[in-house]
Amino acid sequence: KAKGLGKNQYCVYTDEMGVQEVRKMELEKDLQRALEHNEFYMEYQPKWNVKTNQLYGFEALIRWHHPRLGIVPPGEFIPIAEETGLIIPITRWTLEQACRECKAWQDRGMAQPVSVNLSVRMFQTDTLVEYLTSVLKKTELGPQYLELEITESMVIYDIQEIVRQLDIIRRMGVRVSMDDFGTGYSSIGLLDRIPIDALKLDRLFTHDLETPSKRAIVHAIVLMAENLKLDVIAEGVENQEHIAFLTELGCHVMQGYFYGRPMKDDKITEWLQGFAQEGLGRPKEG
Ligand code: C2E
Ligand code: MG
Ligand code: MG
Ligand code: MG
Repeated sequence: KAKGLGKNQYCVYTDEMGVQEVRKMELEKDLQRALEHNEFYMEYQPKWNVKTNQLYGFEALIRWHHPRLGIVPPGEFIPIAEETGLIIPITRWTLEQACRECKAWQDRGMAQPVSVNLSVRMFQTDTLVEYLTSVLKKTELGPQYLELEITESMVIYDIQEIVRQLDIIRRMGVRVSMDDFGTGYSSIGLLDRIPIDALKLDRLFTHDLETPSKRAIVHAIVLMAENLKLDVIAEGVENQEHIAFLTELGCHVMQGYFYGRPMKDDKITEWLQGFAQEGLGRPKEG
């Protein structure tokens, strides 16, 4: 039985379908209307530079508040959006929203860059550059405040075409970072081909730094990044041990629950004040 669907909609369910498949079909159908119904919103997670004791920026992460199912995690609906092509209008929405909110922070005296996760599909639209130009113009955000996060797995599709577009985008002044670095299979070989400004070290590394071999790998990645003039941002930083390991290995920019969970735009100012008071993340003296 197709329960909970709106009027004038139908959905063919068969007995063989598992709960997972039924949910996926429902999400797929509902995703088409989610934009029109304003069911998405952005959250922002801080990245903190422990060397300079300054904010490095915020990552914009999309949230879907489904009217019946509650919050559906991006890990669940982004792959569906990729399959159906809805990722294109959704990504456009995230870009606009992030640029607009970032501009509003500036108007409140907080000049922080924002990074947006970009699907590989955006490079296949042929209008990415034009689109970015128009969004920056419309929102009046300076290009240096925008960063695009791409993943290494996406680059295998059409590396030449992606490089061509990234060159233009970086010449516009927009920054580019490689997300979840170290989880794909072509990581290191890509670095001298893909024009980027920063690496985001996957949280699997952060969570496994007690292992000496993992520490050796992270150390090597950091040294290589330094030589290539790339920033390194560690993902998934949850506690003081993570920070201690990472700083020792030369990584100074941290993102994770220790510094702040992803939060709605209106919580950022409050977070900044609390954070400044508690003095979290400041290196311990002595
Ligand atoms: P990602 O880009 O690697 O984003 C980081 C994910 O790690 C986020 O999950 C974030 O909430 C989570 N995280 C942050 N700090 C910690 C920590 O200390 N510990 C742990 N265990 N997790 C932490 P989220 O928001 O569920 O997003 C998951 C993935 O979904 C993202 O991974 C990204 O690939 C994708 N995604 C999220 N928002 C968007 C978007 O707007 N567009 C696109 N195309 N993809 C998005
Ligand atoms: Mg990301
Ligand atoms: Mg990431
Ligand atoms: Mg990740």
